Parts: sequence; C-alpha cells; structure tokens
Amino acid sequence: MESLYEEVASLLVKQKQCVALTGAGISLESGIPTFREKGGLWEKYDPMVYASIDVFRKDPSKYWSLRDYFIKDYDKYQPNKAHYALKDLEDMGIVRCVITQNIDGLHKKAGSKNVVEIHGSIREIYCTKCGKEYEAPHIPDGIPPYCLCGGVLKPNTILFGEELPQDALLKARNESMSCKTMLLVGTSAIVYPAASLPNTAKQNGAKIVEINIEEAFSDADYFIKEKAGTALPKIVEEIRIIDKH
Ligand code: NAD
Repeated sequence: MESLYEEVASLLVKQKQCVALTGAGISLESGIPTFREKGGLWEKYDPMVYASIDVFRKDPSKYWSLRDYFIKDYDKYQPNKAHYALKDLEDMGIVRCVITQNIDGLHKKAGSKNVVEIHGSIREIYCTKCGKEYEAPHIPDGIPPYCLCGGVLKPNTILFGEELPQDALLKARNESMSCKTMLLVGTSAIVYPAASLPNTAKQNGAKIVEINIEEAFSDADYFIKEKAGTALPKIVEEIRIIDKH
C-alpha cells in the first residue's frame, strides 16, 4: 500500500500545475514566530497601534520604534528546508507559483522565482514622497527613517487597515483558479482574502494537499500532519524516486 507521501508525490507528478499557498507556519522553523505563538511580537505590542495604517499616517515613529525587530532581526532569518523544498519543486516543473501571506521574503531568499507576496515584503522599503526604493537593511538611520528628499520611509507591507495590492491579489486568484493541485502550507486559512484561495482552487477542480501541524482547512483531499520542514523535503524525495523509475 502506498504511503501518504507516495500518494501525494504521485499526484503532484501526474497533475503538475501546482500552486503553493503558504503562511506564517512555514517560517516558524526559521525562528519567526507566528501571530499565535507565545512570546510573539504582537503579544507585547498592540498591532492596531504599532502596525496600523491610520496610526502610521499620523505618527510613523510608532511603527518605526520597532525598527530593530523589523530590520535587524529579519535580516538574520534564513530560509529553512521547507522554503528550499518549494524551490526544488519549482525547479522540477511541479510548483509553478508560490503565493505567500508572509512578509519575510524567505521564499525569494531560498531562490523561488515566481512568488506572489500578497501582504508585501518587509525587505522592500520605499519613500512615501518620491517613491525611491530601498532594500532592508540598507536604509537611513532614524525613527522614523527619512529619504534624502525628506519623505518618510514605509515598508512595502500591508499594515492593518490597508488595502491589498490589486495586481498581486488578481494574480493570486488567477493562479488559484487554474491550478490542478494546491499545497496549503503552514496557514490557519482564516485571514481573508488569502483564506478564500483554497476554496477557489477546490471549486475549480484542484486537489488540495494540506501540510500543517494541526488541521486548518477541513476540505483538503490530503492532510499531512507534520512540520513543513519535514514534510516538504520528504515529498521532494518521493518525487525523485518516481522520476528515477
Ligand atoms: P497563522 O499564524 O494564522 O497560522 C499559522 C499556521 O501554521 C497554524 O495553522 C499552525 O498550526 C501552522 N504551523 C505552525 N508551525 C508549523 C510548522 N512547523 N509547519 C507547518 N505548519 C505549522 O498564520 P497565517 O495563516 O499566515 O495568517 C496570519 C497572518 O500572519 C498573515 O497575514 C501573515 O502575513 C502574518 N504573519 C507573517 C509572518 C511572516 O512573514 N513570517 C509571521 C507572523 C505573522
């Protein structure tokens, strides 16, 4: 009898056209806590104060008072085995797109090419006045930091109360609508509009494979109850075995 990993690997090889939808759980093994994690940033700082667009517009120094965390700490985080496995699956022609809710930039750092960051990236910073782009951690000092033109810098992430970038959202919806399989990795699938994407995929005939330490999406076709950094490399391994035969 085929193991769950063999079954999922066969499905992915047969269907290809796979889209991965990832959330904070995939980066936990890189040391970045999820919102729900004890000791996480938002347990200490109210996100509606420190990361809300309304507050940012009135007083950007609130957000930037956490700049060490967002700039220095995020620079230290490295992709883990799960990010690299998704990159391998893209190289193998199986995963065609990674849609992520994460803002940590780790999929791109791991080498995945077609990445849709629907909540933006904390590695990209821009001037709210002239639009000049900066790449973290290379930004001017200061709380808040200012551009040479005098404009306040803002991370290219979606703050609370801010609208999602329409182009990224449209691409994410199109990818979900047309994929044949969706890997749902490390997301509680409750934050909209990302949470609607697995249903969009399913309604359009895709098979859903969920990888999570606890079931979050009740309508998955396959559920692998495992850490992403263990499960995804195992899937890659099984696909390599199939490819050899
Ligand atoms: P979430 O915190 O709501 O859920 C995390 C999910 O990951 C849970 O279902 C949990 O069971 C699962 N999980 C935990 N460890 C795992 C592991 N090792 N392997 C597989 N699964 C694991 O995260 P979410 O669904 O992404 O939504 C919350 C929001 O948090 C998103 O908007 C995201 O932008 C934001 N966020 C991002 C980061 C980041 O960029 N790394 C970190 C914290 C929060």
